[in-house]
Amino acid sequence: MPPIAITPPNEENSTSDLTVAGIEHSLSKTAPSVFKSATNANGTTLSDHLTDGPANENKFPKGISTPLAELDASLLNISLTSSPRPVPALGSPEMASQKVCTDHMIQAKWTVEHGWAAPSLQPFGPISLMPTASCLHYATECFEGMKLYRGHDGKLRLFRPQLNCNRMLVSTNRIALPAFPPTELLKLIVKLCATDGAKWLPKDRPGSFLYIRPTMIASDPALGVQRPKEALLFVILTCFPAMDGSPTGLKLLASKDDMVRAWPGGFGYAKVGANYGPSLVAQGEARALGYDQILWLFGETCNVTEAGASNFFVVWKTRDGNTQIVTAPLDERIILDGITRRSVLELARTRLVAGSANLELPAVEIVERKFTMHEIEEAANEGRLIEAFAAGTAFFIAPVGHIHFRGGDVKVPMKEGEGGQYTSVIKRWLKGIMWGQEQHEWGFVVDEE
Ligand SMILES: *Cc1c(COP(=O)(O)O)cnc(C)c1O
Repeated sequence: MPPIAITPPNEENSTSDLTVAGIEHSLSKTAPSVFKSATNANGTTLSDHLTDGPANENKFPKGISTPLAELDASLLNISLTSSPRPVPALGSPEMASQKVCTDHMIQAKWTVEHGWAAPSLQPFGPISLMPTASCLHYATECFEGMKLYRGHDGKLRLFRPQLNCNRMLVSTNRIALPAFPPTELLKLIVKLCATDGAKWLPKDRPGSFLYIRPTMIASDPALGVQRPKEALLFVILTCFPAMDGSPTGLKLLASKDDMVRAWPGGFGYAKVGANYGPSLVAQGEARALGYDQILWLFGETCNVTEAGASNFFVVWKTRDGNTQIVTAPLDERIILDGITRRSVLELARTRLVAGSANLELPAVEIVERKFTMHEIEEAANEGRLIEAFAAGTAFFIAPVGHIHFRGGDVKVPMKEGEGGQYTSVIKRWLKGIMWGQEQHEWGFVVDEE
């Protein structure tokens, strides 16, 4: 569609317009050249950038008399640390603390006058902000969560990283942070992983990973409530324990009717910090009562949405006897479009439905629809509930064993130590792709330095 056909959104309202047109409009104001030339010269639209696929080079001429500089990974300034730190031992308290980061970080600054300055790869360390900085007051912050995997074949891999970079753009756009070409962010992430991967994920630790946290904050020192005029992008790599292995399965506490995580018209679909702070009271209560996570319900009908910061799946039989894998839909935009969720659905649609080649388990139907806690209870009472699991980068694929819902307990059948067979097979496939046992286009190999 030529840009001419897009009705330009009203200036002030442009950030609340999350259509492709709205995002393009916002892009044109914050990082114009890639997307402008993309739409003008090639007829490509933002939706083309928001697809999965290899990190294709920007095909578009750079910097043609644009007022603002775009984020450009080729301008990276590199300064390596002179005080490298030790790598914590596997299973050590440091490893579990989630405080230990690798030797380096990426930073890039943006201002409304100049756009993106040259990014830098620099020693990991504190950042300095004015006490008036926008992000400290107005939650102008968003982030991504990814992992760098040390494969069993010795290679370093990312998992569908282009999707994280695309989603980061959706999140920045929701909170008036500047746009950027997602492929440039990906190149910066890859460079950081290539620099620190060899030391921090040594080859003698196959099956291990680092957590990657791309973040953007509004660093604007003006206290007024307004679109920020300065921002900082940074990327850090953090040591992280594996969290998917509870032998009895996750215990979930369904949220009470006095608290919701997200609502239509809100921002539940964006990975913005504002979604997480307010969920910590409920999460703390759940932990104190011996549960692992909150299962967030929505509305009087108790629709099931997400489990903590993971998407949620059930496997059940319908009363007609069909086996289904069910998860909540994205259309209301109250749940996060998880990359693990997508991957589970895509794998299941090609490998677990009737007619799939080499079916490993009885065929299932894959269903994205609203479903309620009452349906889960009914399925459990009628012996139709088969499995449940949480899916996300942090928890990976974590079997759910138990859900407490308003005074009652739902037990999810699962074999001790394993989870159910659908959960196990999906987890095995994903692990194979992430750690290189299966060669798959979703595994993105990082060449080490
Ligand atoms: C990050 C996140 C997920 C999982 O997304 P992945 O891309 O699979 O890691 C699910 N729900 C919420 C609320 C999240 O923040």
